[in-house]
Amino acid sequence: MGSNAMLELTRIIQNVVLATSPEDQVQMIVDAISDVIALDVCSLYRQSGNGDMVLIASHGLVAAEKVVIPENQGLVGRVVRMRHSVNITEPTEHPDFYYVPGSAEEMYHSFCGVPLVLHGDIIGALVVQSRRPELLKAEQEALLTTLAAHLALLVNALPEPKLPRAPSNERYVGISGAPGLAIGKVHLLSQDGLSTVSESSCDNPKQELKEWLALKKATLEDLEKERTSVKEALGDSLAAVLDAYRMLLEDPSFTARITQEIEAGKALTWAIRQAVRFFSDQFKAMDDPYLRARHEDIEQLGDKLYRIWRGQHLTDLPKLGDGPLVLMGHHVSVSDIVSLPAEQLGGIVCFAGAALSHIAIFANALGIPAIMGVGELQVKDGERVIVDGDSAKVILKPSRTLLKEFKKILTARQSFDRELLAESAKPAITKDGVRVAVMANSGLQSDIMPGIRNGADGVGLYRTEVPFMVRDSLPSEDEQTEVYSHVVSAYGDKPVYFRTLDVGSDKPLPYLPQYDEENPALGMRGMRFTLDNLQLLMNQFRAILRAAGCGEQVHLLLPMVSSTHELDTCIELLDEVIEQLHEEGNHVCRPKLGVMIEVPAAISLLPFWKEKIDYISVGTNDLSQYLLAVDRNNSKVSKYYDSLHPAVLHELVRIIRIAEQCELPVSICGEMASDPVSVTLLLGMGVRKISMSSAKLPRIKWLIRALSVKDLEKLLQAALCVDSSKAIRELGSQALRDAGIEYDK
Ligand code: PEP
Ligand code: MG
Repeated sequence: MGSNAMLELTRIIQNVVLATSPEDQVQMIVDAISDVIALDVCSLYRQSGNGDMVLIASHGLVAAEKVVIPENQGLVGRVVRMRHSVNITEPTEHPDFYYVPGSAEEMYHSFCGVPLVLHGDIIGALVVQSRRPELLKAEQEALLTTLAAHLALLVNALPEPKLPRAPSNERYVGISGAPGLAIGKVHLLSQDGLSTVSESSCDNPKQELKEWLALKKATLEDLEKERTSVKEALGDSLAAVLDAYRMLLEDPSFTARITQEIEAGKALTWAIRQAVRFFSDQFKAMDDPYLRARHEDIEQLGDKLYRIWRGQHLTDLPKLGDGPLVLMGHHVSVSDIVSLPAEQLGGIVCFAGAALSHIAIFANALGIPAIMGVGELQVKDGERVIVDGDSAKVILKPSRTLLKEFKKILTARQSFDRELLAESAKPAITKDGVRVAVMANSGLQSDIMPGIRNGADGVGLYRTEVPFMVRDSLPSEDEQTEVYSHVVSAYGDKPVYFRTLDVGSDKPLPYLPQYDEENPALGMRGMRFTLDNLQLLMNQFRAILRAAGCGEQVHLLLPMVSSTHELDTCIELLDEVIEQLHEEGNHVCRPKLGVMIEVPAAISLLPFWKEKIDYISVGTNDLSQYLLAVDRNNSKVSKYYDSLHPAVLHELVRIIRIAEQCELPVSICGEMASDPVSVTLLLGMGVRKISMSSAKLPRIKWLIRALSVKDLEKLLQAALCVDSSKAIRELGSQALRDAGIEYDK
């Protein structure tokens, strides 16, 4: 076995992508391996969602029925458990041997299995067997290990193996889009879009044209209905998302194109498909990135027309009885959400999408759990599903026992939440009398009321990019002023911290020119983006100041500041805006100005900034991302992302110490502020102001009331002496238990 064999196999693996089906691809590979290494059997197993190992391809192993080795069993199970290769002779005598019925495995006298590992998880195993009672040679074993690394990528891209018996409790992890727990039935969004329509002609073009006009009218009415329900539920700014569809549908050139196709003898659905393709291609070919992005709108409109044509108005789709539904699909659209009565919408699972996609924003506003980017799931309408938005987990085919368990948790949570809500207006004062301001993170009109209802002591972080992201074009200064005024007046004399636009990276504004960047999280985002587009910043300063007037409760917050130059430029622009507004006769005052501490570089600069700013707010989401070099939106590395990493904890202590020396008030507005263990440590550090999504407020206020700062200071000292997130979490959990808090309820 020389390097030629290695090259030959690598070449085969690279070429298999040309095979017509995934099944053919893996079969080609196992055939090639047996051939090149000259072994009798080469089998590839894939781990299914419930842990069983399913044979997906084999050269030489013949079995009476589909081969499934139950989780943890057999030599294959041993490979998974050991997490390295198992190379033995006389496998049938091994205590772990598992006989596959009808396979005649007793003929084979040697076995070598290597695990398929992807991102640290075992996803399958590659097994070779031979009639000769000889161990595989070291270089052959090494070759198998190398091949397994290539195969892991390929196998991961295959659809889930079909199991002959019903599996249960299949767990899939994505990215959390919105917190919460839901148990419901799957409502799978139709994947049969307009692109599945095939060419057909019509006998009566006049009749077809009439049908088009009726379809257009029905679709416009449907859009209007959706707009009204979005507006009622979520406010004006979100309803604007639907205007793009209406404008495209009313465009005369769209109708002209369809008419032209029908007059040429084509059937209506084919005519629509052709028109949609024509305009979509035109948009795609445009230089302007905003217009280029419009091809998605026209395609979504096409799918909508087709659905309505098929008599399947989305509103009629769910015939799944009462009870909560979990919307699932590749992309879930705003139309899909409003198609369900709000009380029936239990949760959302998107196969694609990131934590800050529109749908995640909507789900947060509606207070329902959402999981994004979970990958293609094999599900059927009406199947039971558990959605755990806190841990970003979807559980398909839950067993009775698991369902019972989760129902118990859900019922307990709901009744506990009702109890907490009754207390949420009370201030958060620790047992030893320390008052903590607990504020809401907000960004939509629709999450203002939940914040107030849940007892927020103000808005600790208003993400102004959210109203920008749910629109199709930039909001004007007046429109912004209206949105900001609404927040200010809703919160009365409570403080509101408006953060200027934090776009770029995972929060792009599709209608602005995009930067072509290899590393967007380290590129033009936050302050860098707005200083590069300073007209946006000026506009925003003007709108926030006009909304604030001279109200002392309004604060300005600058995101992602990493240098004194950036801060100075912002201050100059702010001064200029104040001057302009005064000249125009507006009664405005200079609001308190603060910076987000998100880029580690900002920490050391704080002493230089102490005269220029009034406070700091620590964005632990980004701070952790940049300290740990872990992309917060990449599910592949999510296990490395932990705000309780010792390095983050020590940096936080440093930030608090420097802020104290500089006499700068501190607040914490990253997700960490709503994690019970983290809260204990933050209070121990001296943090007295935290901000979080409104759904979490009552629980955290209740928790604070049960704690004593004296104990937490000691806890922090212990936590600073251990070197893993796990050990820190254990210490914090113990402290919570000692305080009588069952926070998993
Ligand atoms: C943060 O980074 O912690 C933060 C609050 O900002 P965002 O999550 O909006 O980036
Ligand atoms: Mg941030």
